[in-house]
Amino acid sequence: MAPLGEKSLIERIRRRVRAGSAVVNGIGDDSAVLRVPAGHELLVTTDFTLENVHFRRQWHPPEVVGWRCLTRGLSDIAAMGGEPRAAFLSLALDGRTPQKWVNGFFDGLLEAASEFGLPLAGGDTAQSAGGIQADIVVVGSVPNGKAVLRSGARTADGVYVTGELGGSAAALAQLHTGKARPADYPRHFHPVARIAVGQWLQRRGLASGMIDISDGLSTDLEHICEESGVGAEIAGAAIPRARVGHRAQQVGLDLALHGGEDYELLFTSAKKIPAQVAGVPVTRIGRITRKRRMVLTEDDGARRTLEVRGWEHFKGN
Ligand code: ADP
Ligand code: MG
Repeated sequence: MAPLGEKSLIERIRRRVRAGSAVVNGIGDDSAVLRVPAGHELLVTTDFTLENVHFRRQWHPPEVVGWRCLTRGLSDIAAMGGEPRAAFLSLALDGRTPQKWVNGFFDGLLEAASEFGLPLAGGDTAQSAGGIQADIVVVGSVPNGKAVLRSGARTADGVYVTGELGGSAAALAQLHTGKARPADYPRHFHPVARIAVGQWLQRRGLASGMIDISDGLSTDLEHICEESGVGAEIAGAAIPRARVGHRAQQVGLDLALHGGEDYELLFTSAKKIPAQVAGVPVTRIGRITRKRRMVLTEDDGARRTLEVRGWEHFKGN
């Protein structure tokens, strides 16, 4: 069954969307009109969710695809220490996408939106020549000059991560060979953006640099190091590894180091950081060094170069 026509689809979306304080005028005009609090700067982030690149229809229920689609954008706002204000969705569907799939996708996306009190304020709808393509834009705000950048890490800062790593990549590995029950892999099927943690750190000026872990710890730490002109030393044993599967087994170190799409936060700080922020565990995994290389230390004290093996498009991985 084909999806609804563009006009009735937009009407349906419009009926389901809630108002938000930042939206002066939402769906239904040529542009949305947004308002941000005085003394705030705008944050804008955009992320693709592409069929067979970011999800597969036979692996991921539509609600999961919609939830994760918005979470990608929310996580980028979290990584700046910002508050999400409005979302925009450009959606291209091929003629064979069942309307049931589209409804499920919006169920998931709007559930994530309502969890964070975020209004869907507009978007675009088009027919794709093949496959489902969604592009989410999230607009957020942060007090002037207070956005936490990738470039702020300084020598001797501690390196911290929220939650546990590798759970999402473990689900993908499992899906390649068989089934993965969503309840056994929550960070893959239901990742929650760390908005409250990001804002908590930003308000107290505790994070010098920050990024969300979307491509994998090694790749995202490298982004921080490059932008800040520093290096890092990470203790392999300190990295919190996700527990997955029905036996709640800990993932291997490689998945924790290089697996992507966990949407946890990675940040640096010279200050004292509590073991838990906004209900989320925070773990110190290493420190920033002047020498511009990334080192992994092992239990027996051995040091080796931390290879960068996270996700990178066009590299065929
Ligand atoms: P235009 O031709 O001016 O771009 P459209 O007909 O594409 O207008 O869109 C009409 C309204 O519906 C706009 O407010 C637009 O933001 C909104 N809209 C279109 N597609 C979506 C979508 N997938 N999700 C949310 N809002 C949408
Ligand atoms: Mg349009």
